[in-house]
Amino acid sequence: MAGESAHFGDRAVVIGGSMTGMMVARVLVDHFARVTVLERDEIASGPEPRRYTPQGNHYHALLVGGQRVLEDLYPGFTRRLEERGAVAVASGHDTAGYGPPGIGEASKGSEEPARDTGLRFYNQSRALLEDNLRHFHRTQEAITDRSPATARRLLSEDGRVCGVEIESDGETERLEADLVVDAGGRAAQSPRWLESMGCSTPEETTIGVDFAYSSALFRLPADLGIREKLATFGGPPPTYPNAAISGAIEDGQWVVSLAGRFGDYPPGDEEGFLAFAKALPTPVLYERLKHAERVGPIHRFRFPTSVHRRYERLRDFPSGLIVIGDAICSVNPAYGQGMSACALQVRALSDLLAQRSANGSGLDDLAPEFFARTAEVIVTPWTLAANMDLAYPKTVGERPADMAEGARYFGELAALSAEDEQVGLLLAEVFQLVRPLSVLMEEPLLGRVMRRLEAKAGPAQPVANPDTQKEQR
Ligand SMILES: Cc1cc2nc3c(=O)[nH]c(=O)nc-3n(C[C@H](O)[C@H](O)[C@H](O)COP(=O)(O)OP(=O)(O)OC[C@H]3O[C@@H](n4cnc5c(N)ncnc54)[C@H](O)[C@@H]3O)c2cc1C
Repeated sequence: MAGESAHFGDRAVVIGGSMTGMMVARVLVDHFARVTVLERDEIASGPEPRRYTPQGNHYHALLVGGQRVLEDLYPGFTRRLEERGAVAVASGHDTAGYGPPGIGEASKGSEEPARDTGLRFYNQSRALLEDNLRHFHRTQEAITDRSPATARRLLSEDGRVCGVEIESDGETERLEADLVVDAGGRAAQSPRWLESMGCSTPEETTIGVDFAYSSALFRLPADLGIREKLATFGGPPPTYPNAAISGAIEDGQWVVSLAGRFGDYPPGDEEGFLAFAKALPTPVLYERLKHAERVGPIHRFRFPTSVHRRYERLRDFPSGLIVIGDAICSVNPAYGQGMSACALQVRALSDLLAQRSANGSGLDDLAPEFFARTAEVIVTPWTLAANMDLAYPKTVGERPADMAEGARYFGELAALSAEDEQVGLLLAEVFQLVRPLSVLMEEPLLGRVMRRLEAKAGPAQPVANPDTQKEQR
């Protein structure tokens, strides 16, 4: 149980007290006597939006992959989340995709509920989710939350990271640590700090998605008869770059996020917001918003690039430090994967520390092993998002040589999933980050899809499995 064993040292310091930082603290408290979490933001005593996580003003789904990790880390987490108003969404049954007239989508909308896959993900405000995690910290003597406290630089000795210099209340302080974990998010400073220590910095793979959200909270009249708890409004790429999502969250509210790309960004004023909704490929959202009461300001967010920092390729990383979460990989938020991708990285860390604890191997060479494992975890969300984004010609990024074959394969797989419930479930599990993408390219499924393609258009090229493509991406 938390705090019982101190196998790896006296203190670990976590930079960043957001989703990843808190999950990391939960894992480390089993292996260190004390864990100090540094957060530069003011932390409220309840679920409040924070300055340094402005993404919290936008739709935030907790996919099944992330929810399962959180439930493992914090038994009872899901029940508490539901008790506080988070909305469970039965994937397939409670979801609807509204598209342009004549273009079918996976789920058909209000009149015709699609089948229930049995998978439950969650809609809630990001603030509620964070507060649910922070609840655990408050029960743990071994975890100290320092906020506002900003990590300014790493302390090092003989090429090893041995702590952090922090700034808090205008004072500078040195915190010694046996392990420092940088969970500072997309803007994490580790690359800069590594450079100042004379170490190599990670290469970055980027995809210029040029994506933007405008979001607001609404109350929708009950007599609109909305069956679903989550709806998307848009059309298939590359014809329809603009879209929207609406999700029921706590306190009877709906969060509505409008999404645009390539300079056609959703506006931040009421009139422009409605006009953007009206111009979507389907009128359904606009018809709803006409009757809705907006109960909060309109927030905007620009997301220029997905970024993957390739820490797993570094050969001279200092010991005493690891980097995790969005600090490694920050993907286009359109697909709702970010927090779950972070949770999967935290699970990789948890498994690794448990193994090392069991075999007594300590923290030596922790970073290379950890980064290799996170790279495996990141392949699925990164490839899924990249493939969908790269379908738009204006997206800037290296397109895989087999992109056209991959698109044909996935198109046929989607068609098969509509006919075969088991394939539909497998596909949903991959998109919910419960299973790796590679399961969609394994036999016997691979053969079934290839035979369908061949029957349609003659022999097709084999599709590369993402597991064997890792090093090329
Ligand atoms: C518009 C938008 C919508 C999104 N929607 C979804 C969604 O639907 N589902 C989903 O799963 N994900 C979504 N995401 C992604 C999700 O928000 C991120 O993946 C997630 O927040 C990453 O968590 P993190 O803890 O790694 O980083 P962050 O949440 O960014 O937190 C980093 C923290 O570190 C702190 N920090 C940074 N540097 C320092 C320092 N030097 N000292 C002290 N503190 C520091 C920051 O203040 C911050 O609190 C969305 C993202 C965006 C932008």
